[in-house]
Amino acid sequence: MGCVETAACLAVGSELLGQERVDTNSLTVTRFLAEFGVRTAEKRVVGDDVTAIAEAVAGLMERADVVVVTGGLGPTADDVTREGVAAALGTQVQRDTEIEAWLHERYAHFKRKMPASCVRMADVIPGAQVLRNSRGTAPGMLFEVGERLLVVLPGVPWEMELMLEHDVRPVLEKRNADRRRSTRTLLLSGVIESEVEERVRHLYDRFGRENVTILASAGLVRLLLSSSGSAAETMPALDRMETAFREALGRDIAAVGEGGIAEVVLSMLRERRMTLATAESCTGGLVGKLITDIAGSSDVYAGGVVTYSNAAKATLLDVPNELLVAHGAVSEPVALAMAKGVRQRLSAHWGLAITGIAGPGGGTDDKPVGLVYWAVAGPDGERCLTRVLPGGRGLIRRLSAN
Ligand code: ATP
Repeated sequence: MGCVETAACLAVGSELLGQERVDTNSLTVTRFLAEFGVRTAEKRVVGDDVTAIAEAVAGLMERADVVVVTGGLGPTADDVTREGVAAALGTQVQRDTEIEAWLHERYAHFKRKMPASCVRMADVIPGAQVLRNSRGTAPGMLFEVGERLLVVLPGVPWEMELMLEHDVRPVLEKRNADRRRSTRTLLLSGVIESEVEERVRHLYDRFGRENVTILASAGLVRLLLSSSGSAAETMPALDRMETAFREALGRDIAAVGEGGIAEVVLSMLRERRMTLATAESCTGGLVGKLITDIAGSSDVYAGGVVTYSNAAKATLLDVPNELLVAHGAVSEPVALAMAKGVRQRLSAHWGLAITGIAGPGGGTDDKPVGLVYWAVAGPDGERCLTRVLPGGRGLIRRLSAN
C-alpha cells in the first residue's frame, strides 16, 4: 500500500440511474475519507442487480484500499447489496439470529410489528463486523480483507452518516493515524471565484496546489485549505496557511469554519447583543429563511417582512409615497427607507433591506434585470450598496440573499 490510501465509492440503487435522484452519498463519503488523507479515486453507480453489484465491488476492491458501498440494504426484494457483496467475496449470506432479535426490538421500539420480509436484513456475510443502525433498521457491514477495508452502509443519507461517524471513524483513525488530512474552510462573501484565484495564486507553489480548493456557489466563495500528516503536524501547517491567505484576502474573509454567511452574521450580532430585522422585496423572504434555518436565531433575529408591492412598502415600512413615485421601488432611496422602516417598526438594532429586479420581466435600459439594492440601517446611520447580478430569476434571488 502506498503512502496515501485511495478509496472508491459505489452507490447502489436503480433510482440513482434514472432522472429523479442523484448519488449524493458519495460526496459525504468522500469528504469524510478526505479527513483521513484517503483520496477518492473512483465513483460508480449501479442498479439493484446482484451481478452488477458483485462485479463492481470485486473490481473496485482490486483498485482501491477503501471501498464504501451504500444502498440496497433494505428489506424489499430489490435490495440485493448483501447478496452482491457476498458474491464479490466468494461467499454467501447467512441468517444471524442475534441481528434478527435486534431487528424485532427495533420495530418494537418504533411501535411496529416487523413484517416477515424484513428478516432478510438479518442476513449477514461471514467475516463482517455488523454495524447496528441506530437511526433506522437496515444494518451495515464492515470487512477488513487483508489490507483493504470494505464498508457497506444503508442508502438513507442520515443513517449512513451516523454509521460513518460512529463505526467507520474509529477504524480509519487507527489505520491512518499518521496521515490525517485536515481541512480549514475560509468563507468569503462579496467576491467572485476568479478574483479570489487571482489574489491567492502566488501561494499555490508555497503550500501545494492540491492543498487549496476554491468552491463558489451563489455569492459565496469557500476556500478549503488542507494539510496532510499527523495531527501534531497539520494544525500548525493550517495556521501558517491561514495567515498567508488572510494577508492575501484581508477583509473579504467573512469567517473561518463550515457555517454559512447567515451563521457568521448571527454570531457577530449575538456577541454584540444586537438584533436584526429584514425587509425583503425581490428575495421574497429568502433572507429570513436563511437566518431562521439556524436553530436558536430568535435571540438575534426580530423578524422580517416581505413587502412586494409599493402599497406594502408604504403601509408596513412607512416608505414615503413620494420616494416610490420619484425613484421607483428599485432604487437607493427606497432601499434605505425600507431598512430604516423595518428597523423602527421591529425595534431592532439593525434593519436590512433588499429591493431589486429578479426578472425575467420588468427590466429597462436604466434599470436592467439583476439590478439589486441592499441597504442597512443601524445605530450609526445607513448604507446602501448596488450591483447588477447575472443569471435568471432563481440565481438573482439567491445571489441577492447571500
Ligand atoms: P433502507 O432499508 O433504510 O431503505 P437501503 O440501504 O435499502 O436502506 P435504499 O433503499 O437504497 O437504502 O435507499 C433509501 C433512500 O436513500 C432512498 O430515498 C434513496 O433514494 C436514498 N439514497 C440511496 N442511495 C443514495 C445515494 N447514493 N445518494 C443519495 N440518496 C440515496
